[in-house]
Formats: sequence, structure tokens, C-alpha cells
Amino acid sequence: MQKFLALKTTNLSKEYKTKQNTIHALKDINLEVNKGEIFGLLGPNGAGKSTFINILAGTVIKTHGKVTVWNFDLDINPREVRSSIGIVPQETNLDPFFSPRKLLEIQAGMYGIKAAERITDKILEITMLKDKADAYARSLSGGMKRRLLVAKALVHRPPILILDEPTAGVDVELRQNLLQNIKELNAQGVTIILTTHYLQEAQELCDRIAIINHGKLIALDKTENLLNNIFTKKILFRLKAPKNIGEKLNSGLPINYPKPDLISITYNKNEAKIEDIISEIKTKNIEILDILTEDADLEDVFLKLTKSK
Ligand code: ADP
Ligand code: MG
Repeated sequence: MQKFLALKTTNLSKEYKTKQNTIHALKDINLEVNKGEIFGLLGPNGAGKSTFINILAGTVIKTHGKVTVWNFDLDINPREVRSSIGIVPQETNLDPFFSPRKLLEIQAGMYGIKAAERITDKILEITMLKDKADAYARSLSGGMKRRLLVAKALVHRPPILILDEPTAGVDVELRQNLLQNIKELNAQGVTIILTTHYLQEAQELCDRIAIINHGKLIALDKTENLLNNIFTKKILFRLKAPKNIGEKLNSGLPINYPKPDLISITYNKNEAKIEDIISEIKTKNIEILDILTEDADLEDVFLKLTKSK
């Protein structure tokens, strides 16, 4: 039996043709998203994340490749694809004169959901907008507007929720709140696909991460594996007094100075021994107050992958 997948793309490609040139926004993207997971699509600005999402949403037409959502082929069953996903777009354009409740009712109407089957109050509760249910949308804070977009995407009870940069432009507190919302929805069984260019966010939230850069898939793995596989570690030496000991170690590893009294060396744990680094630093005639080590974070993974491609 074939595994049931929430999403599968095969050689998904998109070329935008402009008057001047052709932009290859997506190049043969192959990936699968499992039912029930939180899947992150990570990449810098311009990587192709929104293009990917907008193809699923039906607002961008793919150039070639195959897309299957909840076992429905986008080319054959576009309506079923649409009803299987709720999309939270990157930009927040909401009608300012409607209340959250009204907007959700309108949205339900658009999906042809009968009054008796609507779950407006439940959605307002999940997204913590109950207190503001009858306020004008324009009076909501940025974070609330974003949650209202999530609420709108949930009206037709899609099994998959897709969020494009959900926390862009949201302040720290509301960001945490929104991430909590996403986790809760996932705990209730909703498959989550989200894009972000915040590494920390992907690291915190996602079960698996795909990294795209210039339209190409450059990595796809469990978040944990991505972090483990990178093999890089960091060692920091805090000095008694600022001192420059050059640009490189004998082994060629670059020496960085995040602060004048701090030396930082990033190394591959398969290629360099921490003892060797420490011994060499000790020959430099400097007084070391403290030695700290750090594991790689997604930032390192990302830098490494995007540099080598
Ligand atoms: P991301 O969401 O990762 O920032 P996008 O999918 O928005 O990336 O964009 C990917 C690339 O496609 C960028 O180079 C962008 O300029 C280009 N692009 C996006 N939309 C259009 C469009 N409608 N017409 C032409 N080029 C576009
Ligand atoms: Mg985008």
C-alpha cells in the first residue's frame, strides 16, 4: 500500500516570464509532507517559498510538474485540492469594516457551508479572538489580524493548514502566541505547512524542514537530523584583554572575533579535534578567562548549504 501523504510534489517548476527575462522561481521540487506533521519550508527572501504556496492555493499556475494534495491531483481535481487546504497568505488584507465574526460568516458562505454546520465560535475561540468577535477588523492589532487570517483559513475545516510567513511583522509576544496556536492546531490533527525565513522559528516548530534557495531544494530532513548532520560546532574563548591572534589557525580554520575580547572558531567535528584547537590557542600567549562550546544551530546549516550552492 502506498503511504498516504498530505502533499507530494514531483518536479514542480515555475518560470515567471517578464518582458526582460525569465525567472526560474522553482526548479524541479520533489518533496512529500506526511499527514499530521509540521513541515517547514525555509529559505531566504526570493527563494520561491510564496510561489510554492501560491501554486497550492491556485493563485499561481505551475509551469510543469505534478502536485498531489490529500491524494487529489491539482490538475484533475483542483476543487478538492482547494477544499483540503486552508491558506494563510503572507499579506494581511482584510476588509476593515467587517468584524471577525462577520468575516468568518462571509467566508463560510463562500464555501457553501450551511449555517447549522458552521463552527464560527469554535474558530474564534481557537484563535483567541472571542473578545474581539464583534469589533471592526481595522481596530485589531497586527497579531490579531494575523490570527484572523488563520481563523478564515479554518472555516471549511481543512485537514491541511498552510501559512506563508505567519510571523513576519508580528511582535515578539504575539509571535509566541501565534506559534502556540499553530502547535495546538497541529495537536488537534491539522497538518501544518509553513514558510519562514526565520531559522529559529523553523527550528522551534517544525518536525521536518525543507530548505530552498534560488528555487532549488537543497536539503530536506528531520529538524534534528539537519542539525546533527551538519557536524559543525563552535568554540569560544573569552580573553582577559582584547587581542588579535590572526585570521586563521594552522589548520586553516578561520578565527572570528565576535567581540574584541572574544575568539570564536567554528569547526567540523569530523575534521578537527577540539583539543588541537585549544592547544594551538594556548600557544598564542593570551590569557583565557573562559572556554565555551556551542552546538550548531540552523543558522550554521543554512549558511553552509547556501554558500556551497
Ligand atoms: P519568497 O516567498 O521565498 O520570498 P517568491 O516565491 O515570492 O519568494 O519569489 C521567488 C522569485 O520569483 C523571486 O525572484 C521573485 O522576484 C520572483 N517572482 C515572484 N512572483 C513573481 C511574479 N508575479 N512575476 C515575476 N517574478 C516573480
Ligand atoms: Mg514570500
